[in-house]
Amino acid sequence: MSAPILDRIRNADELPSLPTVAVEVIRLTRDENGSIDELLRIIESDPALTAKLLRVVNSAYFGMPRKVTSLRQAMGLLGWRAVRVMVLSFSLVDLQKQGDKSGFSFSDFWRKSLTTAVVSRMLARSKGSSMTEEVFVAGLLAGIGRLASIWSASELYEPVLQAMKKQALPIHDVELQVLGVTHAAIGRELLTFWELPEEIAAAVGAHLGEGLEELEGAALDIVCSVSSGAAIASVFCNELPESELNSVKALCVARTGVKGEALERILENLNEQVVEMAELLSLQIGQTIDYADIQSKAASQLARLTMQAEVERMAATKSESAYREQAERLQRENSELQVSASTDRLTGLANRAAFDESLEAEIVRSMGLNSPLALLMIDLDHFKQLNDLHGHLAGDLALRALGHLLERLTNGDGLAARFGGEEFAVILPEIGPRAARAKAEEIRAGVQASPIRHKDATLTVTASVGGIWLPVITPDTTALALIDLADMLLYEAKRQGRNRIEFSASASTVAGKTIARSA
Ligand code: GH3
Ligand code: MG
Ligand code: MG
Repeated sequence: MSAPILDRIRNADELPSLPTVAVEVIRLTRDENGSIDELLRIIESDPALTAKLLRVVNSAYFGMPRKVTSLRQAMGLLGWRAVRVMVLSFSLVDLQKQGDKSGFSFSDFWRKSLTTAVVSRMLARSKGSSMTEEVFVAGLLAGIGRLASIWSASELYEPVLQAMKKQALPIHDVELQVLGVTHAAIGRELLTFWELPEEIAAAVGAHLGEGLEELEGAALDIVCSVSSGAAIASVFCNELPESELNSVKALCVARTGVKGEALERILENLNEQVVEMAELLSLQIGQTIDYADIQSKAASQLARLTMQAEVERMAATKSESAYREQAERLQRENSELQVSASTDRLTGLANRAAFDESLEAEIVRSMGLNSPLALLMIDLDHFKQLNDLHGHLAGDLALRALGHLLERLTNGDGLAARFGGEEFAVILPEIGPRAARAKAEEIRAGVQASPIRHKDATLTVTASVGGIWLPVITPDTTALALIDLADMLLYEAKRQGRNRIEFSASASTVAGKTIARSA
């Protein structure tokens, strides 16, 4: 393949060189006499890298049964292949220490790269791939061709950035048009030049789809996850409109076989994991977006697009009155779509996005009315155990039952929502402290008194509740602080043995977490 930008990058003096540790690790991999001891010595010569590695290994991401305190131990638990690819990716992340170039934001770049890496690895894991760590590295490096272009041939790459700003086209279309080559192919060149494992370079080269069907074995395994991950990351990083969500999911199902509930869980957890990983790697990635946000934006965008198209079609063909009738129907359908975008599918309660919106609105309203506000957080006890012992269907039944109970107990007087997983929240506006506490107790007792029937078994479920009541709301009261406080109380209820409530009716107002706690 030949394109002017490729020649420039091949011959560039200022091409970033691979960090020494990475060079050494690659050399050692090829050296048949290389020993584990030597590898450990090389990695440990870089204390910052060693610390980063241990931090990541000990994060929730790896779910280690106990704390890992040394590299040798990490190597024993994860295998040396995994440690090798982690060293490669972490030392490459240090390449970010370059200033921003015009029109190119490094934090946007790393947000996309890290999102691609994290979601690709989650997909690989879900489909049972044995290459999960390679997938992470390939995901992290999928965009490296853009970085190389900015470094070594910024004036050739500049028109791509300009064109992208003007119209929302897929980046590879723009690159092919302007440069005759995509950043995937540029990336493959660079990784081959750096002598990274062949299957990683090949997967990066094909992650936008070019030549994907020619790959086989490990490279194919990696690229299936990474190409899907990159597409998902494009939606999460605002490179593709949210309305593309469904076609991106379809691509993901076709390439990885991960679908349905498993795919939904991955998307729900993605943002949290990306933020955590960025912290572990000390990467600046700017503002990230939650799946719930993307879903509701996707729903309203789709509604708007259908409506626009229909209105245009009708304007051309229909009479005035038929036009009005159709427009009304579309409005109705549009609001139905908005409802489904704000509802949790399993329980029928408000979902997290709708809860966040309601809480913000209630805070503003209560402040205006000078009226009190209470928030309850409810979490089922030992729920994981229920799932493990009786299956997820039993777990789902318990969630639905709690949904019905909360619906019934808040009917008309507040809003009940599924906060996430087996955690629920109830907003109670214009309520007194005693009534709010009584409601918390009613919920706790209600759960205990309604056992779940599943496959001839009768299963008693309990819940813990954390509740906060505020007499007045001041301008510095934030939704986040309220949730945080109710959550702390919930945690306290768990700590004190579960199946109980911890309730605080404080006379002071909330500002950050400075509220005084009283039982
Ligand atoms: P604790 O008493 O401390 O709250 O323990 P726990 O087991 O309830 O809490 P943990 O956070 O360890 O486990 C929560 C479990 O909830 C793990 C997850 O599999 C399960 N879960 C989350 N969402 C769903 C769902 O939609 N359906 C089912 N069946 N389980 C879910
Ligand atoms: Mg729980
Ligand atoms: Mg929980």
